Amino acid sequence: MFRFHFAAAFSVLLLAGSLAAEEKNQPMKFGMVIHGGAGTIERRNMTAANEEAHRAGLEQALRAGYDVLKKGGSSLDAVEAAIRVLEDNPLFNAGKGAVFTHEGTNELDSSIMDGRTLKAGAVAGLQHVRNPISLARLVMEKSPHVMLDGEGAEAFAKKMGIPFVDQKYFYTEDRWQELQKKKSSPGALSDKHGTVGAVALDQAGNLAAGTSTGGMTNKEFGRIGDSPIIGAGTYASNRTCAVSCTGDGEFFIREVVAYDVSALMDYKGVPVQEAAQTVIDKVGKLGGTGGLIAIDKQGNFAMPFNSSGMYRGTIDAAGKISVEIYR
Ligand code: ASP
Repeated sequence: MFRFHFAAAFSVLLLAGSLAAEEKNQPMKFGMVIHGGAGTIERRNMTAANEEAHRAGLEQALRAGYDVLKKGGSSLDAVEAAIRVLEDNPLFNAGKGAVFTHEGTNELDSSIMDGRTLKAGAVAGLQHVRNPISLARLVMEKSPHVMLDGEGAEAFAKKMGIPFVDQKYFYTEDRWQELQKKKSSPGALSDKHGTVGAVALDQAGNLAAGTSTGGMTNKEFGRIGDSPIIGAGTYASNRTCAVSCTGDGEFFIREVVAYDVSALMDYKGVPVQEAAQTVIDKVGKLGGTGGLIAIDKQGNFAMPFNSSGMYRGTIDAAGKISVEIYR
């Protein structure tokens, strides 16, 4: 009798446990996952107001993406819409709010990829384009190339009729102080992160991914990170998943992170969560910190990171939002 009760209670517990787990990461019919950067993000260093502002920024971006998806729009449009919102928000290190190079300039990188066609567009070293993600999309759709950088990318932007902003547009006091701090102690850990990214699955079952960043504070003039590199910072294929990364770009380039997640799924049939975690563990072993977001064709998603925090959020087909910051 006792044994029977014990077994019954145990199964109920197990069932409750698995239901809770499913609830936490239920596959979405369609939906979107975004990040606003990974790094040393700790509760004790955050004011309530600052935390609230970051949460609100992520929610606003998720809603912008969802508005597209709900109407039957494409994952590409949703990714671009969400990232534009984050680029316009000075709290995130992309567009307005981009970090400074050693020289005190802002150089922005971005990329986007269409999982349906495997078409991709990327831009690097932009100094006068307010929304780099939209220029990356134009490179993909209106040029025969995948990647344009610096002056060439801006000449293309002009040709496309994109209005330019002065470098002053990117100035934020917070990022400027961060540069001064970093210059006086270059080894110091930076707690200002905020590269942004989005991955989406639309109602037609198509995947897309995009990433946008100001890079790393105090970076050398001309340095390009993983964010605009297809396969490193961004990747999408309807065969597997859509991925956007954030973290120490040099390590993400060396581990070809975004494509590695896809390759594990493609060649070995590894589920998205396991593939994403495996690759983040590899980055960690190499000495890099950061994280990624990924979503597959069935709407399963993953958001692993090896830093103390990563701004991240999801919105599912019902419009239910979840936003998290800390581990
Ligand atoms: N991955 C970006 C870069 O290296 C920076 C970041 O995500 O924080 O440019």
